[in-house]
Amino acid sequence: MSISIAASALVTSACHEEQEPKEAQARWIVDRFDDIKVLRYEVPGFAELPLDQKMLVYYLNQAALCGRDILFDQNNKYNLSIRRVLEAVYTDYPGDRTTPEWQAFEKYLKKVWFANGIHHHYSTDKFMPEFSREYFASLVEATPSTAFPQDLHPLPELMAAITPVMFDSTLYAKRVNQQEGIDMIAGSASNYYDGVTQAEAEAFYAAMADPADPEPVSYGLNSQLAKDAQGRIVERVWRVGGMYSPAIEKIVYWLGKASGVAEGRQKETIDALISYYRTGDLREYDRYNILWVQDTLSHVDFINGFTETYGDPLGYKASWEGLVNFRDDEATKRTEVISDSAQWFEDHSPVDDKYKKEEVKGVSAKVITAAILGGDCYPATPIGINLPNADWIRKEYGSKSVTIQNITHAYAEAARGNGFMEEFMLRPEDRDRIERFGTICDDLHTDLHECLGHGSGQLAPGVRGDELKNYGSTLEEARADLFALYYLADPKLVELGVIPDPEAYKAEYATYMMNGMMTQLTRIQPGKDVEEAHMRNRKLIAEWCYERGRTDSVVVREVRDGKTYIVVNDFEKLRGLFGELLREIQRIKSEGDFKAGKALVETYGVKVDPELHAEVLERYGRLNLEPYSGFVNPRYRPVMENGQIIDVQIEYVDDYPAQMLEYSKNYSFLPSRN
Ligand code: ZN
Repeated sequence: MSISIAASALVTSACHEEQEPKEAQARWIVDRFDDIKVLRYEVPGFAELPLDQKMLVYYLNQAALCGRDILFDQNNKYNLSIRRVLEAVYTDYPGDRTTPEWQAFEKYLKKVWFANGIHHHYSTDKFMPEFSREYFASLVEATPSTAFPQDLHPLPELMAAITPVMFDSTLYAKRVNQQEGIDMIAGSASNYYDGVTQAEAEAFYAAMADPADPEPVSYGLNSQLAKDAQGRIVERVWRVGGMYSPAIEKIVYWLGKASGVAEGRQKETIDALISYYRTGDLREYDRYNILWVQDTLSHVDFINGFTETYGDPLGYKASWEGLVNFRDDEATKRTEVISDSAQWFEDHSPVDDKYKKEEVKGVSAKVITAAILGGDCYPATPIGINLPNADWIRKEYGSKSVTIQNITHAYAEAARGNGFMEEFMLRPEDRDRIERFGTICDDLHTDLHECLGHGSGQLAPGVRGDELKNYGSTLEEARADLFALYYLADPKLVELGVIPDPEAYKAEYATYMMNGMMTQLTRIQPGKDVEEAHMRNRKLIAEWCYERGRTDSVVVREVRDGKTYIVVNDFEKLRGLFGELLREIQRIKSEGDFKAGKALVETYGVKVDPELHAEVLERYGRLNLEPYSGFVNPRYRPVMENGQIIDVQIEYVDDYPAQMLEYSKNYSFLPSRN
């Protein structure tokens, strides 16, 4: 529930005349392959930070890079072996590197790096090599055996294990599979469970949970569930001395350095995190989160740990991620104004009064500049984050929500003049508004979604919050999006001074409808359904409003010269529809109405019109764009004098494979099999 993924990567395209598209692309786009482009981002303000904060950022950055191997292993138990074989070949293969097969090999490795494993980072489907098993075997054969790390030997045995994992399409086909009626653990390729069935895992955690505990820990969050030699189910805890210890020890080392230059509550926060990593005790994790969420004053902030559970089909186990950032004080004025008015927004929402929060508390929101992305935030990254995830901590202590503006800025810059809007947005007045207000509307949408949307509303007495099951996250994202969409058009935002023009919201409405009904389908392969929660949510909202406003022609599909366009005719009525749907989805959540929730998602959020889909793919294909983006990090270099750090310098990197190889060399601490 706590991250926002960039829909804006698809929809933002402001066409500024002063910069030629090709120059813009060369400056921001460092690599392109398959359905992916890799961008760079800038870190404005870093050079101006005082030395102690630069050092803090530097140490936390190191800690954020040290967990990369953990994520690879969590995603699939063969990922580290496969990555290391591919890298050894990539570095030391002496043969011809100009053939189409070699290019296919290189592309595959770039995809493995990007996805932190052999499954697509977004669809979670396994991607297939576009070269043969025989070619792969010949590459390994020709590469000096000393190029392969010690623990990959003997190579013939290893090749016998990994070749089918890579080439057999039926083996480990999907990283996360939540299909109803199957054993979701058996159906998923991730490495969170070993030799345990779904029923066993559910029984294990049901027995552990105490329903009367008002402050339950996040059961199962930081361990692999496996069977021991006697066949008993045990947790292999991710801590110093436990599973993933070699990487966690390095993380703890750098956190210790960071603690040495941090002060006050922030120092206490980092120390609590270290204690949690040492003990694996989830109560220590909660203590850390409570300190972290209350630390709203520190200029530098970070996320480091096992955080989000999207990768576990059962939702217990968290993938490792790292992010270091500092506040953008100027832009944060915007989110402060919004969070200061949180109660006003809650009181005036179209939601039924009995499902509104009487007292909204602990909402803190800021705009941040990312300094480094690590683990599950790298190379693909969220643009907004809201943490912590534990419900009782959110209720008692509130949550912190961020919009990552240097990342959204990089997205917008890279999309300049790429022809996307010209192709898909019919009316010049819409394109004009998007050019003027698209970026600010996208950022405000993220602010409202993260800081108010997810935090709004309350459950009816006796409702636990997990009744919506596999439809829960789609409906939760829809609720937060609708809250944002509804209020983007509110005169209150102009009054608060966060939006420059009462018409600006129309830019967001037009792109949201176009994206939800049409252009986001560029991410879906022909014949497939929409599966990812954020995408389902956007489709649900757009299709429902289209259907509901049909008699009044609020939104229409227009066909010109054989091309389909989505056109909003009546923006005010569309706002009314957003409000109506928000009210209904809040009711569904508050009452735990599974049946109604399922009907909404299945009717509007899943099935794709094959004809429109084919048309969109064809038009998008001609633009030669990639639907997914990720980032290379800058590099930070301490400047030493007499054994002391006297400055930290930032360097921008524009070589994606070089950065990946550098990380695999300098930040790789785990054995190939864990
Ligand atoms: Zn969200």
